[in-house]
Amino acid sequence: MKKIGILTCLNSNDVCTRAGCLSAFRERRDFFSGYPEDMILAAVMTCNGCKETNAKEPAEDAGILEKADRLVSEKISVIHVGVCRLNEEKKECPRITQICGLIEERGIKVIRGTHKE
Ligand code: SF4
Repeated sequence: MKKIGILTCLNSNDVCTRAGCLSAFRERRDFFSGYPEDMILAAVMTCNGCKETNAKEPAEDAGILEKADRLVSEKISVIHVGVCRLNEEKKECPRITQICGLIEERGIKVIRGTHKE
């Protein structure tokens, strides 16, 4: 049995229920297509917020490091990153990029995408 997780932008909490990501996973479509029935969505995490509200970069933020380590102890094999990783110019937020790097360093695959973008 394999486990996956989802990473999202903290700011998206203001407007997002994660329903789009969860239904795409449940229906095994878009970036989740081809996953077996017994694949489990076992973790959901956000970034540590923007610089204006949190001065700590992800690599210095104990909370983010703890979350990344928890993904390892939970044996999460893939993290999908929501479309909220992109700003209005469709560029990835640098903090999300850093967090993806911390996750990949721990041997977990990162896939940028959940539902259709
Ligand atoms: S750092 Fe980036 S991903 Fe995180 S809340 Fe701010 S805009 Fe969203």
